[in-house]
Amino acid sequence: MKLFTLFGIEIRLDFSVIFIFGLIVYSLGTGIFPSWHPGWPVATVWTMALTAGLLFFASLLAHEMSHSLVARRFGIRVPRITLFLFGGMAEIETEAETPGAEFAIAIAGPLMSLAIAAACMFYASSAIDDSLLQVIMEDPETGMAEIGPFVTVCLWLGSVNLMLAIFNMVPGFPLDGGRVARAAIWRITGDRLKATEMAANAGRMFGWLIMGLGFWELLALKSMGGLWLVLIGWFLSNAASTSYRMLILRDLLEGVSARDMMRSHFGSITAQMRVALLAQRR
Ligand SMILES: [Zn+2]
Repeated sequence: MKLFTLFGIEIRLDFSVIFIFGLIVYSLGTGIFPSWHPGWPVATVWTMALTAGLLFFASLLAHEMSHSLVARRFGIRVPRITLFLFGGMAEIETEAETPGAEFAIAIAGPLMSLAIAAACMFYASSAIDDSLLQVIMEDPETGMAEIGPFVTVCLWLGSVNLMLAIFNMVPGFPLDGGRVARAAIWRITGDRLKATEMAANAGRMFGWLIMGLGFWELLALKSMGGLWLVLIGWFLSNAASTSYRMLILRDLLEGVSARDMMRSHFGSITAQMRVALLAQRR
């Protein structure tokens, strides 16, 4: 579903976002916010849960936008950004041409998440005065309940963005950290294919690790949250393999024209020749 256009980039929404948006708002509205603020009226809880959910997707968009705008500075076209089940995805049309460009494009996203986290924490810390801080230090539960709605949302959004930045910096393809690692190996060895192979292998291993963790949580702890980790791990290892294959294919076909691939020697026969004879001769 097309949402709107921002800086000339089409912003699209996959329908799976509705599911994850609902899940976030639901867990905030029934779990996190009521436990932090037992005194909040129901309307406040749900208004803030909805606000937090929307701001979360806005910060995902800011993360992808930041990748896209840096890519564009390097002359790479970014026609659209799609938000889907596991976050956002900027459709960056071509590969970066130098390790430096690859590094800048990759690091831009986590830096944006980090900046959002810092801004949220800064706002929260300016809104919490010394006497309230004292109460929080002595008795976190009472102290947290004193914090206003917007500061509460800010604290949540800040910590989520911080986690997003950290998770994305895991050095496995196709995560941003994997791209950073690929750029570094590429710069050192001068071999982009080798760098991609290593980053993709790290990404696959990280995906399996997350899947293993998920299965362990599912079976040993009997927690359904494990299912989510299994899905994320599967998605990561799958994406690592796919993006590696895509790159190899692109590298193999680079500079190959239709002329190189076509057959250019043709034997000719007369129009009167019998097909049976031709078949015999072959
Ligand atoms: Zn990113």
